[in-house]
Amino acid sequence: MAEVTMDKIVSLCKRRGFIFQSSEIYGGLNGAYDYGPLGVQLKNNIRDAWWKEMIQLHDNIVGLDASILMHPRVWEASGHVSNFTDPMVDCKQCKSRFRADQIDLNAPCPVCGNKGTFTAPRNFNLMFATHIGADVDAASTIYLRPETAQGIYVDFKNVVSSSRVKVPFGIAQVGKSFRNEITTKNFIFRSCEFEQMEMQWFCKPGTDEQWFPYWREQRMNFYVNRIGIHPEHLRWHQHGPDELAFYAKDAFDIQFLFPMGWQELEGVHSRTDYDLTQHQKFSGKDMTYLDPETNEKYIPYVVETSAGLTRNVLMALSDAYDEEVVAEGDIRTVLHFHPSIAPVTVAVLPLVKKDGLAEYASKLEHELRDDFATYYDQSGAIGRRYRRQDEIGTPYCVTVDYDTMNDNTVTLRFRDSMEQVRVPVSELVATIKKATKDYKRV
Ligand code: ATP
Repeated sequence: MAEVTMDKIVSLCKRRGFIFQSSEIYGGLNGAYDYGPLGVQLKNNIRDAWWKEMIQLHDNIVGLDASILMHPRVWEASGHVSNFTDPMVDCKQCKSRFRADQIDLNAPCPVCGNKGTFTAPRNFNLMFATHIGADVDAASTIYLRPETAQGIYVDFKNVVSSSRVKVPFGIAQVGKSFRNEITTKNFIFRSCEFEQMEMQWFCKPGTDEQWFPYWREQRMNFYVNRIGIHPEHLRWHQHGPDELAFYAKDAFDIQFLFPMGWQELEGVHSRTDYDLTQHQKFSGKDMTYLDPETNEKYIPYVVETSAGLTRNVLMALSDAYDEEVVAEGDIRTVLHFHPSIAPVTVAVLPLVKKDGLAEYASKLEHELRDDFATYYDQSGAIGRRYRRQDEIGTPYCVTVDYDTMNDNTVTLRFRDSMEQVRVPVSELVATIKKATKDYKRV
């Protein structure tokens, strides 16, 4: 296995159209990224896998798509206006800015190397403020949401009264969040605009102690079994007393071994009734739940699973990346994506363009579109075309050759093993579906 560096990932992403720096022709905007043709497909596939896992495969979880702009009181109730801050320091010499909790203030500046040059830490609120309406004053200040979770809490009563959900149940949401991050290095790992996939599980106080380990197990299984991540690249980190929010009962993060080291991917947090209680206090509206069977009235406890979708994209790329020695002096770059998240599932390639092969292959590619994300490529030597697909993580290549014209069989090439088998066209869809179902990460 080759060493996976962030530089290699960034360069592949730009070269092959996964991810670009935002506003690049104007010099770029820090902390903002554009997902190109392959990147948006990869991101959507991960999002869809998560949505299916939550909404389709679990009992009692419903979806929501709350607005990014919310009433400013929401963020007072949640504590974000007063507490959602990072301590910030500047190097007086080179003016570089750092999060005080991420560097050693007694050590030399990591950028210019000068010692003792940091300003005193000052708190900096991470929410982006803007104004609604024509007047730009304090009364018109609103925020771009820094997390999707509050939209779920605020709509808790609407969902209970309009759907047939009963506690315990969950509300799941995917969407954009915004944080004015002080340091945005490490590519899309920490950006100012990003996407989250959050699920809040509402349960009876006391039962949270059973649900918390349940959701931890579910979430780890999701990454290993559905997204196909190497289990040895994932681990748990339990929040110590200094990390735990004052209202939280317990909190674990799933960490992934990113190119820069172990870092948080998702948080699974036991949040008690803190959020709903706060919204009850600030809105004056009743946030209790009436159990229709026992007639008990209570504010449910919440177990939250909170994952970064864009951070998941970086994980998928880092986990999949490899450079393999195929023969002496011949190295292929390959992304070993799980077939269910690969941007392209099947590439169809005519061996040569002439003698009707291109027409046959193009027709076949059209027929496969109903079942798979396909790609047609007829240019260049066949070996080069295979390598192009390896580099974007396409798990299957189908080659149409002269024999195809006689017997309606094609070559099916598997990305990971590079093994090639002959398959009748009539069995192609079933063969690919079976291979995807049986897929084992190398
Ligand atoms: P950190 O301490 O690293 O700033 P956090 O603990 O505040 O992050 P949460 O508020 O728990 O993060 O957010 C849940 C998830 O959302 C994180 O696990 C991460 O995957 C994702 N996330 C949070 N902030 C960002 C960001 N700036 N860019 C990309 N993803 C993010």
